[in-house]
Amino acid sequence: MNILMEEQFSIATMAGGVICYTTGIDNYDWLLNEESQGIDMRIVEHDAKCTERDHADCDYSLWHDTVYMGGWYLINGELLLNRAAEYSAILDTSTAEIQVVHSHWMMPARRCSPCFPHQNNLEEPDSEYGMPTYCLPPHVLIPSLRHFVTPC
Ligand SMILES: [Zn+2]
Repeated sequence: MNILMEEQFSIATMAGGVICYTTGIDNYDWLLNEESQGIDMRIVEHDAKCTERDHADCDYSLWHDTVYMGGWYLINGELLLNRAAEYSAILDTSTAEIQVVHSHWMMPARRCSPCFPHQNNLEEPDSEYGMPTYCLPPHVLIPSLRHFVTPC
């Protein structure tokens, strides 16, 4: 699986952001809906290997793992960003984290600890020292984060 995320993490003025959905998101109906419409890599990878016509007897978990939410294209096994979409993000249900790699929304945020190099922590907005950081649409965030969000 090649993931082509273009150059977004190397653009000095705009970084990707990371948010934990258990602490940073206020709208779980939105999250579940976006997750169900996203590209679920466990299913994609199973379908690429499996020769069964329908997968009723296949041993594949219905638990999501890594889901590409929002604006993505899956073309010949490669994921491409859809920059026309409101946002593009990677949901990891094992860690409860969402990486926002592109968005029409941003907030000023500080660098993450080393676990997400060159990405910023959306739960630490900082109007004075934060860097412009892609984030999720404001209406899904907890109230204390919403007022930091501006259109890109
Ligand atoms: Zn199958």
